Amino acid sequence: MALKYQRVLLKFSGEALMGSADFGLDAQTLRQVVAEVKALHDLGVEVGIVVGGGNIFRGAQIQGAGIQRTTGDHMGMMATVINALALRDVIEDMGMHATVFSAMSIEGVSHGFNANHVKKQLEQGKIALFAAGTGSPFFTTDTAAALRGIEIDADIVLKATKVDGIYTADPKKNPTATRYEFLSYDEVIQKNLQVMDMTAFVLCREHRMPIRVFDMFKKDAVIRIVKGEAEGTLVSG
Ligand code: UDP
Repeated sequence: MALKYQRVLLKFSGEALMGSADFGLDAQTLRQVVAEVKALHDLGVEVGIVVGGGNIFRGAQIQGAGIQRTTGDHMGMMATVINALALRDVIEDMGMHATVFSAMSIEGVSHGFNANHVKKQLEQGKIALFAAGTGSPFFTTDTAAALRGIEIDADIVLKATKVDGIYTADPKKNPTATRYEFLSYDEVIQKNLQVMDMTAFVLCREHRMPIRVFDMFKKDAVIRIVKGEAEGTLVSG
């Protein structure tokens, strides 16, 4: 069966890796997430991953004590490197090849990001993990996902969230909220819906990069997406 998406940029938050704990990494959850990556890989989909760091540290959370915001953001970016390293090992343990490309150089630990190099690795069926976000403070890993997705010529950015798409209101607070199947970029702005942060969203809109918001823990959701089936919410032009 022909796939709708051959190369994807998968974005999930650090929180997606901590299971039921409120900090850090959970072994079983890591394997559950990587199992979805493996399912994509086994179908022949090329996978680039941007992971957040919120399960360990977010730059804005530290205030006082004389720590600057930029330092906090550097710490946050390093948290994403910790997550990417863990994912790399689990991916390799589950029989695939993976490389960590970090936007902050950490010699002996990760590779620097180079889009051409990454594209060649993807073509060979290797998984690319993008760590340290954009490498700059005041950005988020959502923006890194948009950026890396565009740079590696991904067909789509797949944003994994706790809910299975974008709703008219918060479904946890409002039981009558309904899920959008499809939204245009302009509708997202008009309705002031929170898909990604604005910088990330504007980048995707400018480069006509579609975004699909879905639930990473819904079995085979990501597989249905690459096959072109309806799942979660699609945002495109
Ligand atoms: N961060 C940054 N620049 C980037 C990406 C991330 O400074 O390009 C820092 C920022 O402090 C952020 C933290 O890294 O709070 C973790 O990233 P994010 O909050 O996006 O992680 P997530 O919420 O997806 O787990």
